[in-house]
Amino acid sequence: MGAKITEGMNDWFGWFPPSNFENNTCIFIPSMANTCVFDTKEGLVIFDVPIRQFAQKTFDAIRSITNKPVKYIIYSHGHFDHAFGYGPFIEEIRKKGWDMPEVIAHENCIRRFEKYEILGKYHDWINKQQFASVSGRGRDAVVSARETLDPTIILKGNDSSYSFKLGDVNFEIYHDIGETDDSIWLWVPEKKTICTGDLNVSSFPNIGNPFKVQRYPKDWAIAMEKMREKNAEYLAPGHGRLIEGTEKVRDVLSITAEVMHFVHDEVVKRLNEGKWFEEIYHEMLEIYPEKFKKHKILRGIYGCYRFGIHATYRLYHGWYDSGNPTDLFPAKTNDIALELLKINREEKYLEHAKKLYSEGKKQLALHVLDIIIKGTDETNGEPLIEALELKVKILKEKVKNETSFIAGNILNNAAHQIKERLKELKKK
Ligand SMILES: [Zn+2]
Repeated sequence: MGAKITEGMNDWFGWFPPSNFENNTCIFIPSMANTCVFDTKEGLVIFDVPIRQFAQKTFDAIRSITNKPVKYIIYSHGHFDHAFGYGPFIEEIRKKGWDMPEVIAHENCIRRFEKYEILGKYHDWINKQQFASVSGRGRDAVVSARETLDPTIILKGNDSSYSFKLGDVNFEIYHDIGETDDSIWLWVPEKKTICTGDLNVSSFPNIGNPFKVQRYPKDWAIAMEKMREKNAEYLAPGHGRLIEGTEKVRDVLSITAEVMHFVHDEVVKRLNEGKWFEEIYHEMLEIYPEKFKKHKILRGIYGCYRFGIHATYRLYHGWYDSGNPTDLFPAKTNDIALELLKINREEKYLEHAKKLYSEGKKQLALHVLDIIIKGTDETNGEPLIEALELKVKILKEKVKNETSFIAGNILNNAAHQIKERLKELKKK
């Protein structure tokens, strides 16, 4: 087992049974991300298809309840866990000779699919790291983001919406950016239901994911406020359990909007004060309000507040983030470490790192250990092995205290790689 899977992450990954609501006309099926099916007199509307590996399971769950044909598939956005598990549905349509369904997405979703075409291997590599503790290392990509079903109804532009009626039920679709630039959400007035896609994931928004492209905190807040105006009774999030009750739905949308405004506005305020990233980041950690820290829906189990600070900074600022010209075109970190080791021997740094560790200053200890790890060659085995062992120990301790699944995986992957290197070193 890698990074720990908390109770919240069980829900996030959809490890709970499907449920029906509104007299069994709405079917909510978890399978990593959630699929929501609306059963109308004239056929089915499916909001988000599952991850490809769970497509059959989700298909079977739907078919155990209704035999009506699928008329619409809506992609909340083009991520692999929301738009790729369409296989069994299309196979059934072909077998039965039904009409192909309309597939609804935003135009940026098509751009995303084009991006996956050119960056397939890269995304496999990135996702293997991000999901290492559940997908396993070295296995083939379980989360590959390719092979797509082309949208037939395409929302265009920034302020777009689309609505249709099927079997006396109205479906209203809106485009708002947040986690991605291709996200759309669904409001079904007759069912008092909002399907959010990953604009809501029953935890802190996945903003500022360290592996992924830019995300949009201010627009995210605005999307939450637009959803709140609908006064929904059910909120089907992209991940996590169905949220039921007008007041609860309202509370979830309000607090998520509030925290997105907070992280955005406080970073912007500090940018206007002429501060660099390091200062902004550490100040932001200090001022994070208790009410957000304690709120169940803002648990940093996948994304987290710390990532949100990065997201906002990056939205407005380039890559030169330290304000120190030394960092503008820096030397290789290995060369810097090598020079530091000429001033003081490995043993001295090791001794100091151990002292920092014993004082609980783990992060500082890591920085000092990196001087040995980066600067020493493998002929100088002993201090290197000791430095690597202490680094593994610290990383493992950090994993234990880490709430974010993504951060936990990054720390844990590194610990695993170092352990492999240690095995090799000890053989020599
Ligand atoms: Zn998702």
